[in-house]
Amino acid sequence: MDELLEQILAECHPYTAQGNLANYIPELAKANKNDLGIYIISSDDRIHRAGDYGKKFTIQSIVKPILLLLALMDNGIDVVREHVGVEATGKPFDAINVNEQALLSDHINPMVNMGAILMCTLIKGDTYQEKFERLLDLTRKLADNNEICLNEDVYLSEKRTGSKNRALAYMLKTYGMIQDDVEDVLDCYFRACSIQITCGDLARIGYILANHGRMPYTGERVFPAEYASFVNAILSTCGMYDGSGEFAVKVGVPAKSGVGGGIMAVVPTRMGIGIFSPALDAKGNSVAGIKALELLSEKLFLSIF
Ligand code: GLU
Repeated sequence: MDELLEQILAECHPYTAQGNLANYIPELAKANKNDLGIYIISSDDRIHRAGDYGKKFTIQSIVKPILLLLALMDNGIDVVREHVGVEATGKPFDAINVNEQALLSDHINPMVNMGAILMCTLIKGDTYQEKFERLLDLTRKLADNNEICLNEDVYLSEKRTGSKNRALAYMLKTYGMIQDDVEDVLDCYFRACSIQITCGDLARIGYILANHGRMPYTGERVFPAEYASFVNAILSTCGMYDGSGEFAVKVGVPAKSGVGGGIMAVVPTRMGIGIFSPALDAKGNSVAGIKALELLSEKLFLSIF
């Protein structure tokens, strides 16, 4: 398996040249375009890793499934469903995906920005600072890594330049879907996206989603199995933005990408995978990361379809 990973990374490395760094968040443009790393934990608790798997990067959109999980843990599926839908959007992550006549919760998916901003309001906590601390605690717990912290530079960079996210959040406020102060909600969202992680952290979180809410090694249950099914189903249809259909055909497992270059893939009952390669395609997905998952899926018959 270790040899297979080395081969796959060697084959995928040239693809890093085809992508571009996210530059709409200036701090992300400082990443190294050549980086490519992979980390896998299989359900027999074995670890396989190769390349730049130890590099730190920001979680970005991969925090969305964790936000959703915390909202589910705090409120249950029925309440969450009153606020967001589960239909695939087929639109980019930051699309103002609304019909002016009716901004309905059914149109809002938690894997795109508007839904994730809404999830921040559903997390319990007296202040948005407390809500964020609870999200960070859950991320540390799922990744089994207490050292995970905020990347302050990325957070400030996002906060300074996030006009489109402000537009999305004010739209939610205009239509009565956010009651709280919009800047407080956005601050929590920007912090959430700026949590700094590694491929290993993503693999451990993916493992728990792949194993019905149970931690590696100890088997401790962190959340009910039905929340894992709920999140994995949404990841299958929406986790790779408007590239989710193509990804389902070529790789065939629930996954979530982020514009920091990370991908978390969930292979139900088999493995959690974390990938990092910051050169992105036009949809915001890691080019070499997707290629690596395609090859891995082909070799190990990972597709669930
Ligand atoms: N922080 C990014 C944004 O809100 C997250 C986008 C992403 O990773 O898809 O634009």
